[in-house]
Amino acid sequence: MASDNAPILQLQDDRPAPPVWRRRRVALGVLILCLIESVVHVRSFRIQRPATNLDPPFHVGCQTPILNTTERANAAMVMLARNTDVDGAIDSIRSVQNQFNQHFGYPWVFLNDKDWSPEFVSRVGKVVKETGGGEAVFEKIPTYMWGYPPWIDQDRARKEMESMQNRRIAYAGKESYHHMCRFNSGFFFDHPALLKYKWYWRVEPDIEITCALTYDPFVEMERNDKRYGYTVALWELGKTVPTLFHKLSDWKNKRKMPSTSLWTAMMAPAWLPWPFRKILRLLRNRDGNGDMWNMCHFWSNFEIADMTFFRSQEYREFFQFLDEDGGFYYERWGDAPVHSLAAGLLLRPDQVHHFSDLGYVHKPFQYCTFAPHEDAFKRGELVPDFDANDVREATEKEIGCNCFCDPNIDQVAPECFNRIKSTVM
Ligand code: GDP
Ligand code: MN
Repeated sequence: MASDNAPILQLQDDRPAPPVWRRRRVALGVLILCLIESVVHVRSFRIQRPATNLDPPFHVGCQTPILNTTERANAAMVMLARNTDVDGAIDSIRSVQNQFNQHFGYPWVFLNDKDWSPEFVSRVGKVVKETGGGEAVFEKIPTYMWGYPPWIDQDRARKEMESMQNRRIAYAGKESYHHMCRFNSGFFFDHPALLKYKWYWRVEPDIEITCALTYDPFVEMERNDKRYGYTVALWELGKTVPTLFHKLSDWKNKRKMPSTSLWTAMMAPAWLPWPFRKILRLLRNRDGNGDMWNMCHFWSNFEIADMTFFRSQEYREFFQFLDEDGGFYYERWGDAPVHSLAAGLLLRPDQVHHFSDLGYVHKPFQYCTFAPHEDAFKRGELVPDFDANDVREATEKEIGCNCFCDPNIDQVAPECFNRIKSTVM
């Protein structure tokens, strides 16, 4: 009887389609689960602010007498420059000498990949002497520290550089700029002229210090167990470093390195629920999970840092990994994001110091040294959302000594400061 089997089939055929309300309920359930998953995920990127400020300014206001009677740290003022930078170099040196080093006399080391011009040496040498600061030496960068390493495919590099230039990626394609970024990221600290020093203050041409620094920052860094100091935190241009974060994040996972709160503070979670957010990994500046680097980094045109950090085995391995990848040439990795992400990977947040009392200009931006109002502070505004145009009406408290906030230069946006500083205050 052929019909014996029929009921079973029929049973399936006849089963009524699930009613619309049921299908909707299932869909709604899945949606809610996704939403919860998303919210939990995003919340896991929140930074737990510590109960006390782990990174206050070393001093507030002017120190009188200037604290220059203490023993000196093993430190140097260091400037990388081209011969053509001489005018800007002189302006920067005058500023740093007047605001700080005339009272402390730290030596200056000038680095160049080319031979120094007699003009640079004589003019700069004279200014350093006139402004009461220590010895000045003019050094050349050895060729093995500046130029393509042997494993770089130079044809590919030039092709990528041309493409980056066509896409108008800042500074990309200027070969010497790529060499400079690689040098600053990995070799700077091993320059023979710097080996005898532990601390450096990196000064660039065309910067200005807009407060008096009436204490010794190196000694304070040492005393407070700080390894890296900055004045400005802001967003990197994402197109210069499209794969840097993904590669570093994979490297970190492979080594099972924990996420410090500083590392997390440099991230922006993806809002898409798992597993959909995984697709986002294909976009630039995302890690393997699809979460993103928020592009916050420390500006490296000012740095006061401990070179033993950059000379450590850990940092060397970190740099070697990046160097072997070739992103200094196939992309345009800057030393600022490299140093910053290294700090996020390898330092405790409280080992990073914000010189919140030190006004600073590197055009087009400046940093003005005001403390947030108490109520704003409680909302997590750790530097004031400050418009330099209105500096005359500012009611915020000045942290620095004899500062000048220029009403004609834009103040750095507060977002990156707030995110990063929430790890320590
Ligand atoms: P920006 O700060 O990124 O806008 O770039 P800058 O033009 O200010 O360069 C950053 C620093 O690197 C400055 O101290 C420059 O003098 C230095 N620099 C850039 N390119 C070269 C180069 O080819 N040779 C040397 N010796 N220094 C360079
Ligand atoms: Mn510059």
